[in-house]
Amino acid sequence: MREAVLLQGGYVLSMDAELGELPVGDVLIEDGAIAAVGAGIEAGGAEVVDVSGHVVMPGFVDTHRHTWQTPFRGVCADWTLGDYFRAVRMSISPNCSAEDVYAGNFVGALEALDAGVTTILDFSHCNNTPEHADAALQGLLDAGIRAMFAYGYYPAPVASPAFTAHGQRLADARRIREQKLSSDHGLVTMGVALTEVGLVPFEETIAEARSARELGVPSVLHTGCNWGSPATEGIPELDHHHLLCAEQVHVHCNTLDDRNLRRLAEHDCKVSSSPETELQMGMGHPVIGRALELGMRPSLSCDVISSNSGDMFSQMRLGLQFERCMRNDVFNARNQMPEALDLTVRDALRWGTANGAHAMGLEHRIGSLTPGKQADVIVIGGRRLNLSPMADTVGCIVAQANPANVQHVLVAGRFLKRDGALVGVELDRAIGLAQTACERVLGAITAGGQPLLPPAPEGFADVIDTIAARHLARAWSIEVDTPAPGA
Ligand SMILES: [Zn+2]
Repeated sequence: MREAVLLQGGYVLSMDAELGELPVGDVLIEDGAIAAVGAGIEAGGAEVVDVSGHVVMPGFVDTHRHTWQTPFRGVCADWTLGDYFRAVRMSISPNCSAEDVYAGNFVGALEALDAGVTTILDFSHCNNTPEHADAALQGLLDAGIRAMFAYGYYPAPVASPAFTAHGQRLADARRIREQKLSSDHGLVTMGVALTEVGLVPFEETIAEARSARELGVPSVLHTGCNWGSPATEGIPELDHHHLLCAEQVHVHCNTLDDRNLRRLAEHDCKVSSSPETELQMGMGHPVIGRALELGMRPSLSCDVISSNSGDMFSQMRLGLQFERCMRNDVFNARNQMPEALDLTVRDALRWGTANGAHAMGLEHRIGSLTPGKQADVIVIGGRRLNLSPMADTVGCIVAQANPANVQHVLVAGRFLKRDGALVGVELDRAIGLAQTACERVLGAITAGGQPLLPPAPEGFADVIDTIAARHLARAWSIEVDTPAPGA
């Protein structure tokens, strides 16, 4: 018998250009896929779920989350990017065991699902050993979320490294691709996450970017987020070596000038903006508006749960209101008021759903409630004061909803959250896993009274900048031997 569910009588925000919005509509799900969207659909043998008074929409897509950092929730809330780098990337990361990474990815993926995020691009850059990578992947699989496991090549400064040569990291990513994620059609698929351009010799950057092509998977990297430094720059250098391509997500991009952002657009690269982290840590203005002007389709991401929220409501709101502020500023600078707002809550919804699917190369499968696509569906509403009544439904969802309003979450047609509770999850056990990882790792670092964030060593930023400048300069003397994409 076919497994079928009919979500009946909700406000359907399909995010599909042809189907649009149905103030009262039904969504029929069969065998994990969207079978039909419309009004008055016959239930047939389907289980009927009354969603009247609720919004039915595609699940959110987060295009950049370091899920492994979930146990360290909030530690960076008052930190700059430099503070984050020194404490999390150079101290917390090397102290994480494979079990800690498992806890982060498992509990972090559950947190995402609870908030209606059905797909994450897991920028997984705590692969200190092959067991870390296995554990990170297992956490995603056990949570049941749709994800791209983007194997991070970042070499955390561990005392006795398991990988003693860069090539061993590339080989380990190949192991995962061949042995665990060989299919591009599963719930969890493979990607690679590059080390920040400039932090490693450019030969290694080339090898990391080429590995994505050799494995036949997308890549993701942090780009243009460190003002006044060559680290995370390198767009001309990547372009020179034919390493910009459509299957590549560039995260942040705040520092890129118009020419380099246009270069990304011309190569059909994708962008991911993390408004909450960027506004806090000194990365600058989210790139959403500038990307839109270039015809790009910006996506959104939560980035670091070690600092900020893990829900896309927050990212949509911060991204939208920031861009509105930028546009309103033009009028305010002339001592005028804007006559209208030209970015809408529906634009923000698109950034958080369809554009994310597009960025991850998954738009043929997810991102809208289009018949034939996978049934990654969320239902938002319920008897909560913050959504009662929804005088303007879409306005309420974008401007006022939060994870507690997410009633049902389905991934590939399977209920992972139902009636406000995660399905089949032992919550106490999950919380215990994260708590144990938090206490173990932070306890090890702060034993003996050490601060979690020690003062920066003298000239620390200058050293990074000098190394990055040297690595980028080297790019121009390395022979170009990567064929242009599509060549
Ligand atoms: Zn990041």
